[in-house]
This record gives sequence, C-alpha cells and structure tokens, in this order.
Amino acid sequence: MSLLGPVEVRSLAEKLNIRPTKKLGQNFVIDGGTVRKIVRVAGVTPEDVVIEIGPGLGSLTLALLGEVARVVAVEIDPVLAAQLPVTVAEKAPEHADRLSVVAADALRINLDDLPAEPTALVANLPYNVSVPVVLHLLEILPSLRRGLVMVQAEVADRLAAPPGSKIYGVPSVKAAWYAEVRRAGPVGRNVFWPAPNVDSGLVSLVRRDPPPTSATREQVFAVVDAAFAQRRKTLRAALASWAGTASAAEHALTEAGINPSERGEQLSVLDFAKIAEHGPIR
Ligand code: SAM
Repeated sequence: MSLLGPVEVRSLAEKLNIRPTKKLGQNFVIDGGTVRKIVRVAGVTPEDVVIEIGPGLGSLTLALLGEVARVVAVEIDPVLAAQLPVTVAEKAPEHADRLSVVAADALRINLDDLPAEPTALVANLPYNVSVPVVLHLLEILPSLRRGLVMVQAEVADRLAAPPGSKIYGVPSVKAAWYAEVRRAGPVGRNVFWPAPNVDSGLVSLVRRDPPPTSATREQVFAVVDAAFAQRRKTLRAALASWAGTASAAEHALTEAGINPSERGEQLSVLDFAKIAEHGPIR
C-alpha cells in the first residue's frame, strides 16, 4: 500500500485548509520509512486492535491498517477526524472497514467511547500531552498489553529513566506502575511537516502487574507527586506536607524501610508503594 509522502501531506493539508497548530502538536510524518519502522518496532500482529491517538492526516494509520485487525483512531481535530475515513477509502479501500474514528480528546475518553477493546497503543503523540495521554490510556484500558509511542526525545528519556538517574521523575515512576518502559530508538525532526524544534524518540511499553501493595494507585501517586514536587529535598522534608509533619513523614519512611535522608529520585515504584502503605492518609 502506498503511504503518505511529503507532497501528499502538504496537498491534503492545503485541500482541507489546515494550518498545523502547535497547540495541538500537529507535526505530520512525511516519511514512509518512519511509519513502517514504528509499526515494525511495535510488533503488532493481525489479531491486534490498535488504538492510535492523533492520527492526523493518516500517515501512521495507513501503515497500521495493513498489519492489524482493527485501528481505533482518536483525533481531537474534527476536520482531521472527518477526513481520515475519506483518505483511507481512497488510498486503501480494502482496509477501510477496519478503521473506526473517534472524534474526541484522548484525555477525556473512556472505554465506553470506543467501539472495541484495544490490545495495543501505537501513536505519534501530540507532544504537549504525551505523558498524560499514555498514563490515562494505561489506566482506563486494562486490555492494553503493549504500546509503541513517538514522543519528544527528552520525554522518551524521562519515561524510560531508571531510579537513580538525574532525569528520573514523576513520569518515570507513574509509567513504571503500569508497564516496563524502554527507549526504542531515535527519530530526527526532518521526518515531520512542519519540522518541530526538537528530535523525537520511540518508547516501548509492555504492560506488567502493578507492584504488590495494599495501597491504591491514587495513594501511591500522591506520594510520588509529593516527593518530586521538591526533588532536591530529602524525603523527610519533601513528604512533610503529605504526612502532616516532618516527623510523621519520617515515621512512615522508617516503617517502610526507607532512609528518610534519601531523595525521591533514588526510589523504585515499589518503594513509593511501601511508603503509601505506611502513610497517615488512608
Ligand atoms: N499521527 C499523525 C502523523 O504521524 O502524521 C499526526 C501526529 S501529530 C504529532 C499529533 C496529532 O494529535 C494531531 O493530529 C493532533 O490534532 C492530535 N491531537 C492533539 N491533541 C489531541 C488530543 N488531546 N486527543 C486526540 N488527538 C489529539
């Protein structure tokens, strides 16, 4: 199947009178090799129901449709959402019945809004909301087993950062609650139109069970948010407002077997869960 190249992307945008906006992270892929690579690295199979967030003009959608059972494409821009079935009917009529388009904000969708339960996420994400979108989907779609997303290179590093690294932070810990996360290769800025100011990176996510804990996800995430709100402080100080007082924080940390003089960037998601179990806010 032929994919969208630079000339087609521009003429489609012109036809639809689309001026790509930064606000919606509208940078469209104009390179067939890049979308093929995304699909290959995603490792999707003919059984997969793929959720794609932000299909845009359809570059990645067309590449996906040839490989999977169904693509559920969620697009916030109503003009792009309305055009996508038309583009697919023209370029790949044999696959058109396997595409569903949901015109919605990915941050607000729920399982009920989707026509099928997705098994995989494959997306070139809008950069300003990439982390919240990934976390929201992992939370609301338990059927999602894995994902391959393209995000800003710096965000890819943060998502995949291990404990102890300088860039380990809230996105790293929260993503680790749901999945094994690793970087899956760099992508240069020139594969996009318009070209963004930064390079991109691929991130692979493989669902895993959350750490064994009696604390809820909300309780664990509250500790994570508090610990990194003041990341230079020791946990004893950073968790004082979460616990009520610094000594209550020290008590929870000691009970959890964590040294109160450590900093959040040294803790694994399991460590945060242990602290939440011993926290005063239940
Ligand atoms: N997948 C296309 C490609 O690779 O060429 C476009 C990717 S572009 C980086 C991001 C897309 O996400 C745009 O089409 C934009 O309109 C859409 N988008 C932005 N915010 C969104 C949101 N909250 N929910 C769903 N789609 C969104």
